[in-house]
Amino acid sequence: MVKESLDRRELQFQFAKRYFEEFISQRLHLQPYLKPQETPLLLLDLEGIKRRYKEIELYMPNFRIYYAVKANDHTSVIKALSEKGSGFEVASLEELKKVLSLKVEPERIISSNPVKSEEFIDYAYSVHVNRFAVDSFTEVEKIAKVAKRARVYVRLVVPNEGSDWPLSKKFGVDVDTAIDILEYAREKGLVPYGITFHVGSQCNNYRNWFIAIRKSAELWEKAKRRGFRLQMLNMGGGIPVKYTYEALRIEDIAYYIKGLLQKFFPNPPHELQIEPGRGIVGDQGIMITRIIGKAKRNDENWLYVDTGVFNGLAEALGGIRYPFYIDREGELKEWTIGGVSCDSMDVIAKMVALPEPEVGDHLYILSAGAYTTVYASNFNGFPMPKVLCL
Ligand SMILES: *Cc1c(COP(=O)(O)O)cnc(C)c1O
Repeated sequence: MVKESLDRRELQFQFAKRYFEEFISQRLHLQPYLKPQETPLLLLDLEGIKRRYKEIELYMPNFRIYYAVKANDHTSVIKALSEKGSGFEVASLEELKKVLSLKVEPERIISSNPVKSEEFIDYAYSVHVNRFAVDSFTEVEKIAKVAKRARVYVRLVVPNEGSDWPLSKKFGVDVDTAIDILEYAREKGLVPYGITFHVGSQCNNYRNWFIAIRKSAELWEKAKRRGFRLQMLNMGGGIPVKYTYEALRIEDIAYYIKGLLQKFFPNPPHELQIEPGRGIVGDQGIMITRIIGKAKRNDENWLYVDTGVFNGLAEALGGIRYPFYIDREGELKEWTIGGVSCDSMDVIAKMVALPEPEVGDHLYILSAGAYTTVYASNFNGFPMPKVLCL
C-alpha cells in the first residue's frame, strides 16, 4: 500500500515537472519572468497561441475557425488571432464590442450563445453580425423581431460524456424539435442556415463527436426533405489540452472527424465551422502564484496560495485538475491547496504531490490559459491575476 501511494506521487510530480520543463524549454523568452515580484501572474505565450491556431487550421483545412472569446478575452489574444485570420464567437455585448474595437470585420463574427438578450441581438444585427444560434421558439421570436433577415443555426443536444467540463444539460434540442424550430424560423422570415452542437469542453471522448455528427446528419437529411437548404455545420468547441494527463491530439481528432464527415455527409455541407476556445489558449498560459501559508489540519497538509477559485481558478471547482510545479527537490508530500479567500469552498486542489515548499516560494500552475482570468473576481479584496502576454 505504502509503496503504491509513493509511486503515484512520484508519477504525478514527474509528469508536472516534465511538463513545466518542456513548456519553458520551448519558450525561452518566458524564462526571465518566472520569478515575478508581483503575484498572481498569468504568463501567456502569444506565439504559442498563434501556433495552436495554425495547427488547427493545418489539420482541419476545410473548417473556418471561430475562436470562442469567453475562454480568454485578453485584447492581445484577440489581436494575435485576428492577425492570423481567425473568426470569433461572441456571446455578450462586451465581447462583441471588444472584438469589433480591434478592427475585426462583422463578417468574421458569429454568436452561438443559444439564449441572447434582445438588446444584444439588436445591436449585433445593427453592426452587421447576422448569424445566431437558436435552440428554442422563443429565441426565434426575439431574433425575428429585431434582426429580420438573420441567419440562424439550431443547436442539437449531444452527449458530453468524458468531457471534463460538460455543457449539454443547459442547451440544445433533439432532432425533431430542431426541425420544428427551423420551420418556425422560416415562417418568421429568418434564414435557416445550419446546425451546431457542443461535445462538452475538454472532450476526451471520440464517441461524442461520433454521435454528434451522426445526429447532425440525420437532421440535415430531414431538413432537406422538408425543403430546407442548410449550408453550414458548426462543431462548437471541445478540443482538449493537456492538464494532469495527455489529451487527445488535434491531428487525431481532425482525422476522426474527417472520417465521420465522409461517412455521414456524402454531400458535405457548404460551410464547416469550429469554435475552439480552450484548445487554442488553454495550454499556452502558466499561472504563477506564491505560497502564503502552510498548516497541518488533522492528517492533512495544507498549502495556501495567493490566488483561488474566485480569482481565476473557478474550474478547479468543477472538474479541471491543474498540474502544479514547484522548483524544489526533496521528499514528496501530499498537499491540499487552499485558495487565498476566507471562503471554505475556496480549495484549488487535493492530493497534490509536491516537495515541501517554504512560504514565499513560487508555485506554478500549468495549462492556465483558458477559463481563468475571465472568471476572476476581486472577492474578499484579493486581486485578480495580472496578465503578461509575451
Ligand atoms: C464555450 C463555447 C465554446 C468553446 O468551447 P471550448 O471547449 O473551450 O473549445 C464554443 N462554442 C460555444 C457555443 C461555447 O459556448
